[in-house]
Amino acid sequence: MLLQIESVTKRFGGLCALSDVSFDLEEGTILGIIGPNGAGKSTMFGCITGSTPISDGKIVFQGRQISGKKPHQIAKAGIARSYQIVQPFGNMTTLQNAMVGGFCKHSDYKDAEQIAISALKTVGLENKKDSVAKTLNLGERKKLEIAKALATQPKLLLLDEVMAGLTTQEVMEMVQIIKKINASGVTIMVIEHIMEAIMSLSKHIVVLSFGKKIAEGAPNEVSENQQVIDAYFGIEGGDEDA
Ligand code: ADP
Ligand code: MG
Repeated sequence: MLLQIESVTKRFGGLCALSDVSFDLEEGTILGIIGPNGAGKSTMFGCITGSTPISDGKIVFQGRQISGKKPHQIAKAGIARSYQIVQPFGNMTTLQNAMVGGFCKHSDYKDAEQIAISALKTVGLENKKDSVAKTLNLGERKKLEIAKALATQPKLLLLDEVMAGLTTQEVMEMVQIIKKINASGVTIMVIEHIMEAIMSLSKHIVVLSFGKKIAEGAPNEVSENQQVIDAYFGIEGGDEDA
C-alpha cells in the first residue's frame, strides 16, 4: 500500500472533523473521496500533508509514519495537494508560480524551470507561461493549481475539488488531464462532487459524512448504498451542489 490511513481522528476544539477514519490507497490508482459539505474531506487532505496535525491515529506513506512530520518534510517525501480555493501568487507569472513547486526538489533555477514547464505542458498551460497569474480565468487557475503541485514531482497527488465551477467542456478536459497524470505513474486521490467525473476516474470510492467513513467500494456499490443516499438526500447534512 502506498498510503495507510489508520484510525485517524481530528478534533477542532469540540468539533470532531474526522472520527476514527481508516482506509488504504493502492499505488498507481485513483481513489475518489466523496461526501456532503463539511464531511471532513479537505481536513483529511490537511492531515495527510501535515498542515493539520491529527489528534489521534496514524498515517503511513510508503511504509513510514508521516503523521507528526512537518508539511515540507511530507512534500519532500512525495505528497502534494491542490487547494479547493485556488491560491496563485497573483502578481507572478504562471511559470514562476509553477516554479515555486519546482524548487521543492531542485535548488538549481534552470532545473526548477524545466520541471515547471513540463508541469505546465501536462495541464495544457504552456502557452500561458508568461501571463501574470491574476489574469487567468478559473479553469486556468485550477490547472495552475495542479501544475504547482505537480512541479514538486509527487508520488501521490491530492486534488481538492479541481472541477468545481468549471464548464462541462472544462470538466471533460480536467478528467483527461488527471488520467494523463495518473498514467505517468502518479497515484491520485480526488475529492469531487461531480459524480460523472469521479465515476469515470475512480474504481474505488471512500464516502465520508460528519467525519465518519460511512462506505467504501466501487462507484456503483457506493451509489446504491442506503447510508450514502441518506447522507446526501437526508434531512440532516443534505448538500445542494452534490
Ligand atoms: P469538506 O471538505 O468535506 O466540505 P472540511 O474538511 O472542510 O469539510 O470541514 C469539516 C468540518 O471541520 C467542518 O465542520 C468545518 O467547519 C470544520 N473545520 C475545518 N477546518 C477547520 C479549522 N481550521 N478550525 C475549525 N473547524 C474547522
Ligand atoms: Mg472541502
